[in-house]
Amino acid sequence: MENKADAFQIFVDFLRREGLNVTRGRLAVLRALADLPRHFEAAELWEAVRPRVSPATVYRTLGLLEKAGLVRKVEFGEAHAHYERSFGREDHGHLICRACGKVWEFPMGEARKIVEEAAKERGFALEEIVLQGYGVCPDCKARRKPRV
Ligand SMILES: [Zn+2]
Ligand SMILES: [Zn+2]
Repeated sequence: MENKADAFQIFVDFLRREGLNVTRGRLAVLRALADLPRHFEAAELWEAVRPRVSPATVYRTLGLLEKAGLVRKVEFGEAHAHYERSFGREDHGHLICRACGKVWEFPMGEARKIVEEAAKERGFALEEIVLQGYGVCPDCKARRKPRV
């Protein structure tokens, strides 16, 4: 997916296809989303649109954006869900620190091809590739070391 303008078109088409109204609130959520950091929580999205848009609309719209393929839920091993924008960006993997929850991105490179080939061999209709590494970041590693 290329950019913001495409994302709006895709969302509007999706809403029409689903027989849903293209409301100001729904578009405001998408607009706010484009300005958030790549990874965000639902609460941060609401912060960006309040008080113009109700939390219920934010959550519902987030679900619609997910269905439209513009947002995906990412599991970072924490209790609350994180989301990320899937437009205007490259495919990438995540490195997640289990101590502080920070997330780093890296390009998927060859990994993408490996998964695609495995899917092709099995006639599998691939929809999404998730590549994540869990561990401890350099800062947390340094903090954990006992001082001598
Ligand atoms: Zn850390
Ligand atoms: Zn990411």
